[in-house]
Amino acid sequence: MSLLMHEEVVVRRGSRSGIYVVVAIHSTVLGPSLGGLRLWRYEALGDAIADALRLSEAMTYKAAAAGLDQGGGKAVVCAPPNRELPRDTRRELMLDLGDIVDSLEGRYVTAEDVGTGTDDMAIIRERTDHVVGLPIDSGGSGDPSPITARGVESAIRASCWHRYGSGNLAGRRVTVIGLGHVGARLAERLASDGAVLGVSDVDPGKQALAERLGAAWLDPADAAIAECDVLAPCALGGAIDGGNVERLRCEIVCGAANNVLAERSLAYRLAEREILYAPDFIANAGGLISVYGELHSLGTERLHLLVDGIGEALRRVFEAGEARSVTPLEAARSLAEERLDAAREAHAVAPVAAD
Ligand code: NAD
Repeated sequence: MSLLMHEEVVVRRGSRSGIYVVVAIHSTVLGPSLGGLRLWRYEALGDAIADALRLSEAMTYKAAAAGLDQGGGKAVVCAPPNRELPRDTRRELMLDLGDIVDSLEGRYVTAEDVGTGTDDMAIIRERTDHVVGLPIDSGGSGDPSPITARGVESAIRASCWHRYGSGNLAGRRVTVIGLGHVGARLAERLASDGAVLGVSDVDPGKQALAERLGAAWLDPADAAIAECDVLAPCALGGAIDGGNVERLRCEIVCGAANNVLAERSLAYRLAEREILYAPDFIANAGGLISVYGELHSLGTERLHLLVDGIGEALRRVFEAGEARSVTPLEAARSLAEERLDAAREAHAVAPVAAD
C-alpha cells in the first residue's frame, strides 16, 4: 500500500474499557514516532486499522518535510458507533491507552487529535511519560491550533509569493472553509493582514465571527467554488473531489485540513488547471511542530522560527516541482523520501568484512 512499510502495528483491547485501540508506528528512521490519538466512531475494527495505517504514514511525511527529527505514528480508538462514551469509560479508555503507549517504550509518543483534547492527555500522563499536548497549567503546550493557523498563514504567503511575486496578503481574496479551532484563528490573522475574506461553516453559529471580521458568509454547499485567489480548506478532508475540481475558481489551494484532496491523483488535475496546490502535510505542520516543541522543551522564539519556516519549506517544494516538472505534491513527497533515505543510509550498519 505504500513505498515505506509500517514498522509496527499494535491492536489491543483495553483491559479496563474493553475498547479496541490501534497504534500504528510507520517509521522511526528520523526519531521516535509522534502523532495524535484519534477517537472516532468506526463501523468495524478493520476501518480503524486502515485509518491508523494511513494517518501514521502521513505523519512520517509531515515530520520529514518539516525537518523534524521525529518519526510517524498514530493511535486510533475504535469507539462504539452509536453512543457517546460515558465519562468514566472515557477515563478508563485513556488509562488503557497510557498503558499501551508505555508498553511501546518510547517508540511512539502520543498527542491530541480529532476527538481528543488536552484533558485526555493529562489522564494518559498518569500511565506514561510518552505523551505531549498536555494542558498549559500542567506544563504542556495546550491547544496546538493557534500554531497551526500561524503555519498556514506562512504557507499562504509563500504560495502567493510563488504565484504573484508577492506575499503581501492585503487585498488578496481568501475563502476559509471551516471556522473551527484552526479556521477561526486563520481567518482572524488574514483579516488583520488586510485580506478580503469569504468564510463558511456548516455551523450557522459561526456567522457571528464572520460579521466581526467583516467577512462575506458563504453557503457551505458551494463555498469551495467561490471565486477567490486562495481557497483555504480548514474543515474535514476531501474538500476537493472529482465533483468540484473542474468548477474551482481559485488560483491557489492552501489550508489546514488533512487530506484536502479526496484522491491524490487530483493534484494532477489541479496542476493542469494551473491551480497551485500547497500540499496539506506541509501547510498544516504547525500542529506537529507545537507538540514537537513541548517534547523537546523549545522556547517560544525557536518554536515560532520553526513554524515560520513552513513558508520556506513550501518555496523549496514549489521550486523542486518546477525543476522536475512534477506536481507540488509529488515534489513534497520526494523531498521527504530523500530525507528518510539519507537517514536510513546513515543508520545502516556497515557490513563486517570477512577475514
Ligand atoms: P474543528 O473540528 O475545530 O473545526 C472544523 C470546523 O469545520 C467546524 O467548525 C465544523 O463545523 C466545520 N465544518 C465541518 N464540515 C464542514 C463543511 N462541509 N463545510 C464547512 N465547514 C465545515 O477542527 P480543527 O482543529 O480546526 O481542524 C481543522 C482541520 O485541520 C482538520 O482537518 C484537522 O485534521 C486539520 N488540522 C488541525 C490541526 C490543529 O492544530 N487543530 C493541525 C493539523 C491539521
